[in-house]
Amino acid sequence: MDEIRQVAVIGAGTMGAGIASHVANAGIPVVLLDVARDAEENRNAVAQGAIKRLLESSPSAFMDRKNAHLITPGNVDDHLEWISRADWIAEAVVERLDVKQRLYREIDRVRKPGSCVSSNTSTIPLAQLTRGMSDEFSADFCITHFFNPVRYMRLLELVDGPSTRAGVTARLAEFCDVALGKGVVRCKDTPGFLANRIGVYALQMGVMAAAELGLSIEEADAIMGRPMGIPKTGVFGLYDLIGLDLMIDVVGSLANALPADDPFQAVAPGIPLITELVAQGQTGNKGPGGFYRTRRHDGEPTREAVDLADGRYRPARRPKLDAAIVAEDHGLRALVETADVYGEYAWRVVSRTLAYAASLIPEISDDFPPVDEAMKLGYGWLRGPFEMIDDLGAGWFRNKLEAETLEIPAILSQAGDEPLYRVRDGQIEHFTLRGGYAKLLRAPGVIRLGDLARTTRPIVTNAAATLWDVGDQVACVEFHTKANALGPASMDLLRESIPIVQRDFKALLIHNDAPHFSVGFNLDFALNAIRDSDWAGLDQALTDFQQACLAIKYAPFPVVAAPAGMALGGGYEVLAHCDALQVHANTVVGLVETLVGLIPSGGGCKEMLHRWTAGSTSAEDRVSGAVNVFEIIATAKTAASPIEAAPLRFVRPQDRTTMNRDRLLADAKALALGLARDYTPPEPPTFRGLGNAGRDAMSGMLTRFEDRGLTTAHDLVVGGHLAQVLCGGDEAGEREVSELDLCGLERTHFIALAKTPATSDRIAHMLEHGRRLRN
Ligand code: NAD
Repeated sequence: MDEIRQVAVIGAGTMGAGIASHVANAGIPVVLLDVARDAEENRNAVAQGAIKRLLESSPSAFMDRKNAHLITPGNVDDHLEWISRADWIAEAVVERLDVKQRLYREIDRVRKPGSCVSSNTSTIPLAQLTRGMSDEFSADFCITHFFNPVRYMRLLELVDGPSTRAGVTARLAEFCDVALGKGVVRCKDTPGFLANRIGVYALQMGVMAAAELGLSIEEADAIMGRPMGIPKTGVFGLYDLIGLDLMIDVVGSLANALPADDPFQAVAPGIPLITELVAQGQTGNKGPGGFYRTRRHDGEPTREAVDLADGRYRPARRPKLDAAIVAEDHGLRALVETADVYGEYAWRVVSRTLAYAASLIPEISDDFPPVDEAMKLGYGWLRGPFEMIDDLGAGWFRNKLEAETLEIPAILSQAGDEPLYRVRDGQIEHFTLRGGYAKLLRAPGVIRLGDLARTTRPIVTNAAATLWDVGDQVACVEFHTKANALGPASMDLLRESIPIVQRDFKALLIHNDAPHFSVGFNLDFALNAIRDSDWAGLDQALTDFQQACLAIKYAPFPVVAAPAGMALGGGYEVLAHCDALQVHANTVVGLVETLVGLIPSGGGCKEMLHRWTAGSTSAEDRVSGAVNVFEIIATAKTAASPIEAAPLRFVRPQDRTTMNRDRLLADAKALALGLARDYTPPEPPTFRGLGNAGRDAMSGMLTRFEDRGLTTAHDLVVGGHLAQVLCGGDEAGEREVSELDLCGLERTHFIALAKTPATSDRIAHMLEHGRRLRN
């Protein structure tokens, strides 16, 4: 298949700019054209302004700001011929058929034969876009529907038409999957495709049902969030995030495009408050807030929420709902069966949304697995609608719909009491409208632990982690606690895995499919030990952590970790002890222990010190390397991509990057098998304590931070302990220090800090509010 080496994006608004920066993230040159500014000297001002905004975006659209150099800004009047070099021309101009079609005629005049052209349209059918276009154009045209923000949203909906050449969609699917890292879901040419058709319906239902049942917006978000397996932004929070004004447009265009008898029409009106808020300028998070807003009262930021009854703002309340707690432990069915108004709300939203989704098969997709994929990748749902139906029990769900005289979708009446997904002969299958089941196919190079969990038995498992056989004589440790906080049980399993892998496998991976690889050492555990003054218990837990990390470092086989999401604190310390990493391109890494008044004590100080001082030939070099480590840890520096992580030495030259999370495991496996061919474990390093020279340099840095007003009183205490560890103790002169000496120092100073009230206040604050306490 011809590679895509040059890209042109036309339209430098939200989406065009996002697509261009993400193409640049893949290392591919891209031309970004918008309209020419006639009256201005600088006719490229629009595209250039877009690049400037991308550079200022947060979280950053760029994996490395230097990638901006790969984008050439221009305008369609003066530079359209530039697109003649492009293998793919992505159109992302305003959502107007006449504007798009006029542009397509121009594009068709200059593009090179065989180049792919796609539109990012959300609502205009492909059939309308290509009407009247040349046969060649229609053959090379499809819809590539990216989501905002392009770097972070995983879903790409790919729509072809009856005239589109198979080679075009295959080429774009491959490029968007492997190079851009998107989960490519093929869709039919229907309004809203898959994710927005169902996602917008669910949002509208969530808003209207909350108003009808008299729930507050916080209560609705507390139910239609994590308890349902939906991101915790919930329904009103998501409205604010997308923008109330944009939602009005999206709902309006979906309602226009859908027939009058589509159930979407019943939820399209939403609630009058939405237009009222927009009229007041309350358009959401991009403006001064929407359903929620933050106001300063006596200098303190206070979160406020709109009261659905009278439209007035009042202080936001954090509801603690039994129904939500029940759902955490007992699942979706328990939630919708809860006998109170929250259970009723959950049932109304879940039943209508799942029934609507089921009724759309085969209109929007012949089979339902792509719909589940689209909702998980595009809306961040933990489970897709059809997986939720299985959670409830397909037969139970159908009976309950019947009891409420709601219409039964064909797929549910045909499935009877059978599940929609099942496992046969070690293979996941899905029910089909054609009758019977079909094998659930994943793209080559995609391995999911979730699939393995359904089809195979773990090698060993405990409450915190599991060891899986991922094939080809490679095993994989999966962490699976809440946010993958690491505690004694996680470390037990790592240690237990070593002899098993040594006996039966060639290599070990550490990977999981959860949103975050690991947020670090379990702070609940630490705080409980502190409150009980159980210093021996804390020391033991740290020793176990360090031993587990050393065990993976010196195992007689390669260990490769494949992180995605956040790998912070203890999570990063596990990575630091692996032979190599296969890192997802959006992974955030860092040693952030100082934010909670602690220091890395799973071997993180030691490994960073090694990375920055090994090979140093003079005491001066060693001190300067150690001071860099001091700054990185003391200021809790994080990197939000492997490219940003490299100069901090969080990742090393032997580490690799994968753009598509779904491909991480397979890529990590290949890397590990490569290392296994000729593997010898590393030699234990020796260090030299830095003595007074090191301590002086670090305390000098602390003083400079203090003079600039960057430190609090406790930061100075934490910094002092960190310096002691990195200098290899309190000896005045240089001396040899072993790896285990450094481990001992990490523990000693961790526990000394844990004994300070300021550290326990920091930990408690982080657990309660999810952010640091500056004390
Ligand atoms: P936008 O309004 O932010 O940007 C559109 C850009 O197109 C503007 O900069 C405008 O100057 C430019 N433009 C208009 N006519 C042009 C022409 N003839 N030649 C070159 N440039 C021209 O819009 P957006 O939100 O980026 O949306 C772009 C497309 O992506 C639309 O089709 C929209 O439906 C779709 N989409 C948007 C989102 C979203 O969240 N915003 C998500 C998915 C898809």
